Amino acid sequence: MTADIMSGLEKIAQEHGHICFGLAVGYRASLLVIDKFEIDPLTKEDELVVVMQENSCCEDAVRMTTGCSWQNGTLVVQQCGRAVFIFYNNTVGKAIRLTLKDELVGSWQEIHELKNKIFKKTASKKEKEYFKEMNQCLVKMITIAQNEDLFDIEHFNMTLLVKLSYYDSLCIPVNSANSNASQSA
Ligand SMILES: [Zn+2]
Repeated sequence: MTADIMSGLEKIAQEHGHICFGLAVGYRASLLVIDKFEIDPLTKEDELVVVMQENSCCEDAVRMTTGCSWQNGTLVVQQCGRAVFIFYNNTVGKAIRLTLKDELVGSWQEIHELKNKIFKKTASKKEKEYFKEMNQCLVKMITIAQNEDLFDIEHFNMTLLVKLSYYDSLCIPVNSANSNASQSA
């Protein structure tokens, strides 16, 4: 399984340009949802819609793995800077929200700050080396971790979402969604 995850990640990394923490997180989130919904979204257009509350490298992983894209209205990015993914299955009227575990949020923020410094060419040599090392460790950890160790996983019935035709209808407030949530492994 771990070998499959790594080879899948390496495959999408070819298009993304590199293997990184964000790509790995987005990939694991996508695999988890495909497994829970028991679907092959790449063959059924519009069955799956995703709202992401972060626009980092993980967006690329979700797009390539699930086939959701902003061009066909099935991928929406709310730039809240949080590693949260809400996947909606239009066919069965269910949604899954994945929130990166609190234990990983610190690493998530740290590596993003380092990456920004590198892009802006303000990172020192030591910071660049640290980034490389940290990225490798995190990717390895994300690849072998259990789903439940990566994400808080919540399931919803889409009673709040009558029709998913418009972006606005996707932007359910987190608090109102929470009231219907049932925690599940
Ligand atoms: Zn990346």
